[in-house]
Amino acid sequence: MTTAIVWFRRDLRLADNPALVAATQGYDRVIPLYIHAPHEEGEWAPGAASRWWLHHSLASLDTGLKHHRGALQVVAASTSAPADGGGSLGALRAAIKATGATAVYFNLLYDPLIRKRDEKVRKALEADGLDVASFNASLWCNPWETSTKEGEPYRVFTPFWRNLRTRIDEQGPLDTPAPLHLGTVPKSDDLDSLALLPTLDWAKGFDEWTPGEEGAQEMLSLFADDAVGHYDTGRDLPARHGTSRLSPHLHFGEISPRQVADRLRAHFARRKNAPDLEPYLRQLGWREFGHHLLWHFPDTPKKNFNKKFDAFRWAKRDAHALRRWKQGKTGIPIVDAGMRELWATGWMHNRVRMLVASLLTKNLRQHWVLGEKWFWDTLVDADLANNAMGWQWVAGSGADASPYFRIFNPVTQSEKFDAEGAYIRRWVPELRDAPGRLVHAPWEDAAFLKRSGYPSPIVDLKSSREDALTAYQKARGAPAGATRE
Ligand SMILES: Cc1cc2nc3c(=O)[nH]c(=O)nc-3n(C[C@H](O)[C@H](O)[C@H](O)COP(=O)(O)OP(=O)(O)OC[C@H]3O[C@@H](n4cnc5c(N)ncnc54)[C@H](O)[C@@H]3O)c2cc1C
Repeated sequence: MTTAIVWFRRDLRLADNPALVAATQGYDRVIPLYIHAPHEEGEWAPGAASRWWLHHSLASLDTGLKHHRGALQVVAASTSAPADGGGSLGALRAAIKATGATAVYFNLLYDPLIRKRDEKVRKALEADGLDVASFNASLWCNPWETSTKEGEPYRVFTPFWRNLRTRIDEQGPLDTPAPLHLGTVPKSDDLDSLALLPTLDWAKGFDEWTPGEEGAQEMLSLFADDAVGHYDTGRDLPARHGTSRLSPHLHFGEISPRQVADRLRAHFARRKNAPDLEPYLRQLGWREFGHHLLWHFPDTPKKNFNKKFDAFRWAKRDAHALRRWKQGKTGIPIVDAGMRELWATGWMHNRVRMLVASLLTKNLRQHWVLGEKWFWDTLVDADLANNAMGWQWVAGSGADASPYFRIFNPVTQSEKFDAEGAYIRRWVPELRDAPGRLVHAPWEDAAFLKRSGYPSPIVDLKSSREDALTAYQKARGAPAGATRE
């Protein structure tokens, strides 16, 4: 009997899983193995909200495998060197030895440290004489498969998307292989022993999520039945469920973009007045663009993509302001609503992500990495590629970033996208009964502000905007690569 190990990582699904399909086709028996080795991801090891999701997603994958009379094998890798049996390589070698496996198949990840780790593992196992194969399960196109006419990586989204768009229609998803003949390793760890769940009673609001493959499909059904029909207009309104909320499911590979596009197309195939799916597909394109950038410019999670921006003068780090921002107590209602939604649910609406990031990086002039780190710890969809791209886009330092002079005014944005203040009232109870415009700018009535118990604004929006513009203009005039003062 021949045996292959399928090394599960962030591809936590059975359908449309190319590594699982190939292993099943090539070998008699497959061992589904998850190795917990956060130390190999350095400072970008999963944050607290991601660990919560990961725990439940692994449990869900295990349930899925049980329907095929198997179980997910979980191994906590030791932090000792691979030569001493530690790390992912050590864990794989131990599993190979114990099961007689002659192959290791896995789906690719694109985070810089994981890439390096995977290359080392591949080389070592190939040197051991194993059949090692990797596959693309999470993107329409591997990041190196698209390039400009000159053969360069893209730095601007629209031409990237034009290129990618020509490649996605032919891609259909793969079925779950059946039958699945599943094996075990002799020493599998208990999922609880990984201690992924928070010890604080913080994640109770996360219960609105259903991590796992089934939960992802349900979320997609909800979206297909309703919001996709008015996505282009509804996607900017935080009070509504106007977007797909698939981001954590996509991040953990519980669903793939191929599956999403295929289901949506099939859903509307025979319907009159089918909605235009393009605006939604384009958003998935941004996810691919983020991965394209991270692959070609692996230092983007920490360094300005646009080196001219190195000359930008950030304000001194302000621990007090940062704490108020994190706690949703800045006194700017739409920002506080977003930060409280994030804390309570592990997620925040895209429009509001832009507003909270703009307040932090522009009005408060705190370095974008500070915000990126907080998101990393608190978002259930925290994703190295998308998070870095999002923060750099708002800060103005990124590829294809928003122009430096675009500094969101949180009051006018709030009036435009949360006109009745429904989103603010939901997350900021102090303002639940605020009359009219005061829900967006409660400081305009000092007596009301005092009564409400809501804080005064942390910063004057007008003068801080001007200060930021001055700082941006100075940085633009500075030679590329000039050091910060
Ligand atoms: C400062 C900042 C930080 C962000 N951090 C993350 C992050 O850590 N993880 C993350 O997945 N997204 C991040 N985003 C992008 C975006 O906010 C989320 O992907 C989106 O809100 C997820 O909600 P949804 O699934 O309902 O999106 P939908 O509107 O339904 O879009 C469908 C999918 O397309 C992708 N997508 C949509 N918008 C973007 C975008 N602007 N950039 C990249 N991919 C996109 C996501 O995978 C999303 O699930 C960030 C944006 C900003 C401004």
